[in-house]
Amino acid sequence: MERLADRVAIVTGGGSGIGLATVRRFASEGARVVVADVDSSAGEAAAKEVDGIFVRTDVTSESDVAAMVGAAVDTYGRLDIAFNNAGISPPDDDSILTTGLDAWRKVQEVNLTSVYLCCKAQIPVMQKQGKGSIINTASFVARMGAATSQISYTASKGGVLAMSRELGVQFAREGIRINAISPGPVDTPLLRELFASDPERAARRMVHIPMGRFAEATEIAAAVAFLASDDSSFITASEFLVDGGISGAYVTPL
Ligand code: NAD
Repeated sequence: MERLADRVAIVTGGGSGIGLATVRRFASEGARVVVADVDSSAGEAAAKEVDGIFVRTDVTSESDVAAMVGAAVDTYGRLDIAFNNAGISPPDDDSILTTGLDAWRKVQEVNLTSVYLCCKAQIPVMQKQGKGSIINTASFVARMGAATSQISYTASKGGVLAMSRELGVQFAREGIRINAISPGPVDTPLLRELFASDPERAARRMVHIPMGRFAEATEIAAAVAFLASDDSSFITASEFLVDGGISGAYVTPL
């Protein structure tokens, strides 16, 4: 499938996990990809793999984000797709009772302020073109509560979801579609390591997933590619949940 032939796409957090899988998926569908990441070696490797460009970007920096968008336009002449996906989930973001203000702010900056900065820089380029698709990474925790709290993370993803909806509405008549993707838990090296050392913790989560497994990053990337492509041409201000049924479940299969 070449649904993204001749399209230019930015992927933030493109060096790892969901971002990396999406870089690969976008390229396989014909897009030219700008990989943006704070981790230069991972980002450079991803860009090299798909014959794209790498721009070292801290998504919390307004000037870095401006340079990222500038690099896409300078190199390829346009910007059709933006996957604003970089995010963190640090261990010091926990229960509200123990999470300090610095830990709270750090997560808000990387997960939520970054999406504000990216959309603010990307939308004017897309307005000039009269077309574009922006996909922001939220999470299933934006709509479901967990007793195993990561309070700032959850609040930041709720913010991403609400902001994406509002931007989708505001720019709908200018040809720009803006949606959120909400992955369920994804099988990343981080998650695997955490659960290998604490099987009880893994089991406590797994029991809530009707499909009985975590997602593969490629399964999230496939949904992102759909939102990026014209196959989703009537979808905007929307949330695409890719969660293995978690949010629909009351009693899961044995
Ligand atoms: P990951 O850690 O594998 O990749 C995140 C990437 O973002 C890394 O390459 C990292 O270097 C980069 N990054 C971190 N801070 C950055 C910054 N300030 N500027 C630029 N780049 C930065 O994570 P992942 O699991 O692929 O997660 C990607 C997104 O998906 C995140 O927004 C995360 O919250 C969300 N998400 C993940 C899961 C999951 O289970 N893994 C579930 C739901 C949502």
